[in-house]
Amino acid sequence: MTTENVIIVGGGQAGVQAAVTLRELGFAGAIRLFCAEGYLPYQRPPLSKTYLKEDSPPEKMYLRPDKFFAEKSIDCHVGVKVAAIDRVARNVTTATGEEFAYDHLVLATGVINRRLPAPGADLDGVVMLRGLDDAHHMRPRIRAARHIVIIGGGVIGLEVAALSRSMGIEADVVELGDRLAGRIGSVALSDYFLRHHQALGARIHLKAGVTEIEGRDGKVVAAHLSGGQRIETDLVLVCIGVMPDMALAEAAGLDVKDGILVDEHARTSDQAVLAAGDCTRFKPAHGTLASIRLESVQNAIDQAKCAAETIVGKPRPYTSLPWFWSDQGTLKLQIAGLTAGHDRTISKADPVKDAATIYCFFEGRLIGVECVNRPADFMAARRVLGAGKVVRVDDVEKDSFELKSFM
Ligand SMILES: Cc1cc2nc3c(=O)[nH]c(=O)nc-3n(C[C@H](O)[C@H](O)[C@H](O)COP(=O)(O)OP(=O)(O)OC[C@H]3O[C@@H](n4cnc5c(N)ncnc54)[C@H](O)[C@@H]3O)c2cc1C
Repeated sequence: MTTENVIIVGGGQAGVQAAVTLRELGFAGAIRLFCAEGYLPYQRPPLSKTYLKEDSPPEKMYLRPDKFFAEKSIDCHVGVKVAAIDRVARNVTTATGEEFAYDHLVLATGVINRRLPAPGADLDGVVMLRGLDDAHHMRPRIRAARHIVIIGGGVIGLEVAALSRSMGIEADVVELGDRLAGRIGSVALSDYFLRHHQALGARIHLKAGVTEIEGRDGKVVAAHLSGGQRIETDLVLVCIGVMPDMALAEAAGLDVKDGILVDEHARTSDQAVLAAGDCTRFKPAHGTLASIRLESVQNAIDQAKCAAETIVGKPRPYTSLPWFWSDQGTLKLQIAGLTAGHDRTISKADPVKDAATIYCFFEGRLIGVECVNRPADFMAARRVLGAGKVVRVDDVEKDSFELKSFM
């Protein structure tokens, strides 16, 4: 029986997956999982979809129940932050000064929300959304709100916009770029989002920033836009992107560059240290980009599995096809593949069913598919792209084209 120790820093989607896969692969050594937040590992996606509206308790969000960790001998240190790594001695020190030795260390520290660099950002009623504590802070405020200003028209902001409208709350979305969700999708997808959210009754302000949040008696009363507009509001959600949480890695001298740099086996620049999930930057096996950071459940799970496989001496390169989803009211977006860098799109829409499939190409070859309310196309795209099949512009242009015929 092995006496090896694995320490996992970060009890999120990737951290818990690394622990689970290690046990599935028969790893019999000690596993310690450090969770800085005061909860067992939980899923984040519902936070911007249903959790704010419902009364469900935090436990409903847990990825595994308490007893699972006991049964699998995974030692969860809940509410404990790792403060330093000593790579020479191979140990970590917690914020309370305790030291734990490791043979293999997995960093799964996730990301940190960007803060709004504008006056008034600290007023009561200005909120952010990343974890359960944020959601618990926001819940009573959104329920009492008549009006919300959402700064940032990315997917999380748009999910909250749709949720707010479903709760009868007036919503203004303020986006610096010239289109919605420009970081994750094509122009055709952004146009689809724009029409959808306007139809839901949200006001969308593109190429606009918030220069100041006005308060009275410590509480937000209005947001001032770069164009001079003043919007009266009682809640402001700041959703302007994230930064990888790589402070520990950087302080320990690991290679970092807007993310902890890892190879296809989730190894950092130190063979004893691996990293997985939102905090990493790596060379993707798909798409056009030389390196990428992915903020998705799929990436957290699949990369963490690779990290565990590396640890048990069965390394398998990370080649899984990336995929992503977002729910915005009645609109369900699913993306298969990496569409960034595409140079052409073909959109096949069905306005009656409020559905569309947007095929994204690079140099004539299909690299990703954006599906709106088209789950069957999404499943076909995952299988076809995942199997490395070549689909060209000419194929998709044919009236008789069906992606599933390439499976
Ligand atoms: C509101 C919201 C909605 C989302 N919706 C979707 C969606 O619809 N689809 C999708 O694919 N993805 C979605 N995501 C993204 C998805 O949740 C993340 O990609 C995923 O959680 C990443 O997992 P992770 O383990 O890398 O990081 P996280 O889940 O962020 O976990 C990292 C954990 O590490 C902890 N940590 C950091 N430093 C330390 C330390 N020094 N010591 C101990 N612990 C530490 C953090 O506190 C955190 O709990 C959403 C995210 C949010 C916030």
